[in-house]
Amino acid sequence: MVLLLPIFPSMKVTDYLKQSDGKTLISFEVLPPLKGGSINAIFQSLDPLMEFKPPFVDVTYHREEFLYNIQPSGYYQKIAIRKRPGTVGICSAIMHHYGVEAVPHLICGGFSKEDTENALIELHFLNIHNVLALRGDARKFDEKFIPEPGGNEYALDLVQQIGRMNQGVYLDPSIENGSRTDFCVGIAGYPEKHFEAPNMKSDLKFTRKKMEAGADYIVTQMFFDNQKYFDYVAQCRKEGISIPIIPGIKPITKRYQLGSIPRNFYINIPDDLVKEINKAQTDLAVKEAGMEWCIHQCKELIKLGAPCLHFYTMGDSQTIRKIVERVI
Ligand code: FAD
Repeated sequence: MVLLLPIFPSMKVTDYLKQSDGKTLISFEVLPPLKGGSINAIFQSLDPLMEFKPPFVDVTYHREEFLYNIQPSGYYQKIAIRKRPGTVGICSAIMHHYGVEAVPHLICGGFSKEDTENALIELHFLNIHNVLALRGDARKFDEKFIPEPGGNEYALDLVQQIGRMNQGVYLDPSIENGSRTDFCVGIAGYPEKHFEAPNMKSDLKFTRKKMEAGADYIVTQMFFDNQKYFDYVAQCRKEGISIPIIPGIKPITKRYQLGSIPRNFYINIPDDLVKEINKAQTDLAVKEAGMEWCIHQCKELIKLGAPCLHFYTMGDSQTIRKIVERVI
């Protein structure tokens, strides 16, 4: 007897956006569990969110980090570890478990172009046809982003490589009539500018180049002032960037994030939100203030026609669930 496994009918993120008929979609981003964790951690964090019928779920990619271990001799030994491996496997597990699209993040850092090509082939064979193409950040202890020897330097180079594979063009020129991949490509956008860009115009110039190289949609960095998102969309349109721009959403849930979020993500927190958080007397009150702000942001984004709200769950799906319940 031949057992026929159901083939998940993979759809592009942009097709979901087109089909939504102006209704704002809801999607989520999850992180792979720390090494040693189980796939059940992913299911436990997604189970409470699946009733909102996300058309897609993103899974982040984490490059190796260097640790320095002190040896008995007194010398330091440098070791490389990846704390959160498993992005591709998790995507495949999500698609099979829930029947929703999973979008792996793919970065330039740590990948030669050959590694990237092989990773894309693997995704293609797994019926995963959506990717978010990113450069990745500099590693801890590196002063700036250093590409892998023979690797892509910017997300633009990665988008171009994916574009060539979508045309059936592989790195080895002797491959003729190569199988065409069919990736829908998302890229990152920064309503408050990428921190390395000298100015917004320069940042948008490269965003436009990514679109021209085949990027299909943008997901933004988190922001806490909706006006930043609306201004960003307007500036993108002025610069000829016509692809959908999905806002990335994260609530503040802890007081220390007033410092850590600007430090890690190079974004501002509006003074009114800072005051609300500082007014709160308990940890619970801080969380409630952050959630109320986020709910207000989401309602306005929906009212003004955002194509999708993309929630950074960061391991706290219960909070995200409470927010989504109040905004849909
Ligand atoms: P790029 O588009 O390469 O831009 C980097 C900088 O270089 C910008 O200042 C840009 O203006 C400039 N630039 C771009 N192209 C050129 C060019 N050709 N010549 C000169 N300058 C250029 N990081 C991870 O490691 N894993 C993740 O899973 C992850 N997910 C993310 C998801 C989202 C939605 C966002 C917003 C970010 C995510 N990041 C992730 C972080 C991201 O990798 C960093 O912000 C990184 O610093 C920049 O990535 P990028 O793709 O925007 O880079």
